[in-house]
Amino acid sequence: MTTASATPAPTLGLADSSVPVAINHGPPYTIAIDPGHGGPIETGAVATDSDGNLWLEKDLNLDVALRVRALLTGAGYNVVMLRTTDSTITNFDPNDFSGSVMRESQARVDEANAAQADALVAIHFNGWIDDSLSGNEAYCDPNRSFAANSCQLASLIQQSLVSDIRADGYAVNDLGVKNDAEVNGNQDDPHSWMLGTNADFSPSVMPGTIVETLFLSNPDELAFIRRPEALDVIAAAYAKGIESYFAWLTGGQ
Ligand SMILES: [Zn+2]
Repeated sequence: MTTASATPAPTLGLADSSVPVAINHGPPYTIAIDPGHGGPIETGAVATDSDGNLWLEKDLNLDVALRVRALLTGAGYNVVMLRTTDSTITNFDPNDFSGSVMRESQARVDEANAAQADALVAIHFNGWIDDSLSGNEAYCDPNRSFAANSCQLASLIQQSLVSDIRADGYAVNDLGVKNDAEVNGNQDDPHSWMLGTNADFSPSVMPGTIVETLFLSNPDELAFIRRPEALDVIAAAYAKGIESYFAWLTGGQ
């Protein structure tokens, strides 16, 4: 196994009383990986590179997730993929996008819960209408009972991605670990479906993070991503961050 060189305290100003929840079994540990989005309607971010090629976030998420699965499986982890093809796992109604996203998220959370996963990692790439925005960020929900775990998981993956992307030659902006409530900004549903608690929704019951890996909408970051070796660098950084989390949780072996 590899481990990151640093294990900093959780960010977001968590209360001093927020202590990690110990894991109650030995290895192998089970990781639920959510390759964000999927299918013809739920594409996620969309970008066009300088040669006119179209890049869809859903495809990159799945490509990286499959590489992370291979790395973690090789390191002795159980991996549960919440999708393995270019599709959603529920029927998507184009006339009810937000309702469809909620139902799809519930189905994915239900799978992670049924698998009794020890951690949930949602893999995304970012995108925004302002193409000057750049950087890497990770989210955790500071209000869950296992927030210390979730935010450490987020922090370790974030640091691993930032350091490995920089080592690969791109001086990525470290946007840090953010509050999950910032994901959708909806006052009625203040947290994302995957990590938070929301009305009429059965939440995930394990520590989790959503990671936004660079901005497809930023020309410099898309130029980094489109190189053939980039997705291996990104996947290895995810796997290293996840392994560092379990090393931290179990005493550093
Ligand atoms: Zn996304």
